[in-house]
Amino acid sequence: MSDWEADSEEDGPGGAAPKPSRALPAWRPATEAASAGVCENRAAGGDKKERGDGWKGRPRQGLAREPWQSGPLEYRARGSPGGRGRESARSPPLCFHLDNALVGTVIGRGGAKIKELEESSGCKIQVVRGNCDAEIKIFGGNDKQTKAKMLIDDLVERSGQSNSGEKYEKDSFKHQHVGTTYCHASRSGALMSVNNNPKQSINWTSLRENKAKYEAMKWADLPPIEKIFYKESPNIASMSQDEVDRQRKENNNITCDDLKESEKRRIPNPICKFEDAFQHYPDVMANIRKVGFQTPTPIQSQAWPIVLQGFDLIGIAQTGTGKTLAYLMPGFIHLDSQPIPREKRGGPGMLVLTPTRELALQVEAECSKYSYKGIKSICIYGGGDRKGQISMVTKGVDIVIATPGRLNDLQMNNFINLRSITYLVLDEADRMLDMGFEPQIMKILLDVRPDRQTIMTSATWPDGVRRLAKSYLKDPMIVYVGTLDLAAVNTVEQKVVVIPEEEKRAFTRYFIDTMKSEDKVIIFVGKKLTADDLSSDFGLQGIPVQSLHGNREQCDREQALEDFKKGRVRILIATDLASRGLDVQDITHVFNFDFPRNIEEYVHRVGRTGRAGRSGEAVTLVTRNDWRIASELIEILARGNQVIPEELISMAERYKQFQLKKEMEKDCGKPRGRSWKNA
Ligand code: AMP
Repeated sequence: MSDWEADSEEDGPGGAAPKPSRALPAWRPATEAASAGVCENRAAGGDKKERGDGWKGRPRQGLAREPWQSGPLEYRARGSPGGRGRESARSPPLCFHLDNALVGTVIGRGGAKIKELEESSGCKIQVVRGNCDAEIKIFGGNDKQTKAKMLIDDLVERSGQSNSGEKYEKDSFKHQHVGTTYCHASRSGALMSVNNNPKQSINWTSLRENKAKYEAMKWADLPPIEKIFYKESPNIASMSQDEVDRQRKENNNITCDDLKESEKRRIPNPICKFEDAFQHYPDVMANIRKVGFQTPTPIQSQAWPIVLQGFDLIGIAQTGTGKTLAYLMPGFIHLDSQPIPREKRGGPGMLVLTPTRELALQVEAECSKYSYKGIKSICIYGGGDRKGQISMVTKGVDIVIATPGRLNDLQMNNFINLRSITYLVLDEADRMLDMGFEPQIMKILLDVRPDRQTIMTSATWPDGVRRLAKSYLKDPMIVYVGTLDLAAVNTVEQKVVVIPEEEKRAFTRYFIDTMKSEDKVIIFVGKKLTADDLSSDFGLQGIPVQSLHGNREQCDREQALEDFKKGRVRILIATDLASRGLDVQDITHVFNFDFPRNIEEYVHRVGRTGRAGRSGEAVTLVTRNDWRIASELIEILARGNQVIPEELISMAERYKQFQLKKEMEKDCGKPRGRSWKNA
């Protein structure tokens, strides 16, 4: 997981204190480097450059080390850019793929067969296992590669299995080898030599046509999707533009836009009552009455008419704003109103992708509060009971709420059919990107029909999220609810304590000692290690606490949340894993032991308290290491009419000065890296 838990900086004032800089050799173009006898090692972890003098005396010219030692290596003969003339001896690796089922055949017990193959062919063979297949790389001269490949073909043939997806290609750094003869292979595996013609033209038009044809074929047998379920009530339809504007302004300052590039569509008016959206769906109304909600939240009032009209939607809103119901309720109607009955679709109709297990579980909990025409949901997340999840999925469910990793796993292993999905939700898209889930999302969405309806939620709207929206949503409308100064943050009393790092523990202990019996606090820390450390410290001091972070087993994380929710412990020490998606209504305090990595995360954390109209308090410890965020924090505090400590103001001022000096030094070409202390 790539959240701040693991990545936060260990050092200096906001990371600004100068570190001794490592002297790196200046970059030179590859050809120049080659002629000077520099051998670049770009293998994992190796950003080194070895000087020509070093390899001059080595027995094998042109190589600082064997190419198979640790990944791709660029090499060139001295004074001969591209290494022409040595290719027959040292060709780029011959790469091909082998189904995982066949890998054992080639490797043999304890790698015995690989060794045999290497000895017989004189090549080095590398096997890189993937999810479905393995990449086999053969290193050595062309003749030897051919021999090794034939030996492997022979092994495969003798094993009686075929390698369905076999494909051959020279390694990606082949462009370095100008004029090389490349080896290609037919499906039967026989190697053919062809002259490399780098200028071979690609017929893009035909490729595009073929792709479109293939896409059309891929989805041809699927039934059409019914998406429009909205009948605007007369009182909403008759609202004047002024009334619409006022309604939006009073509802957390909703703003919306149609992102369709050509001919803008009318953005539906926001609704005022639940009946405005659901009067024709008595079962939905019954559910809403059952849970006792009074009015739609701002995001619901604007999202429902948009989603029920069948448009894709981007909702810029946070957990705690009622966003889950904003997509769930229209989703229930969508699922139940498709031309093919649910039980005959051969798979789930709705997929909700969430970044964390906690959010997935929370969405599922929200989903199971409502019963709508027997719709069944399941939560699929890593760390949960995989067998149980597979068994549930194969029995048949309507809604899948999943984290991308585990869903991808079930998808790759054909345990789940995603072709039946017609309603897709990407929940907290910004968080999913932060956590590096984009590749998994890409793979998952290859199997989801493109004419689906897609809803995306995100707390922020940075470039990455925009790109994601452009790739996966079709002509969406966008609804922003509030800005960073969210209602939640403004209802929370925010105290900032500027403190030396070494006094933070004692202050935290003091805070705990002064807690009232009904208080409930989340203590946010920057690292998993700090979470463990603090919780064991407090445990030893006889203070009951729980901790929540990504290194804990899933069952422990669930237990920690349960204990905290039920009030068995009143202190939860957590990393930012809990800063979003955690819906515990009675948290009275948020205590920021470490300042978060950015101001948005601060807003998320603070929003864990002051929920559902209650008041809350946030205490934030700021050390001089946090000086970079001081001015942004001041802005948030000012917007919420909070007390701004003098030290924070002077910290912001010092940082500004420091930045200015740095800029000036840069402009004058002076050395950089003055300490913040001198600023
Ligand atoms: P969410 O933003 O989806 O995490 O929702 C936060 C909480 O608000 C959940 O406990 C919901 O059950 C609750 N909620 C959703 N819609 C409403 C509403 N219209 N009125 C009051 N509470 C709501």
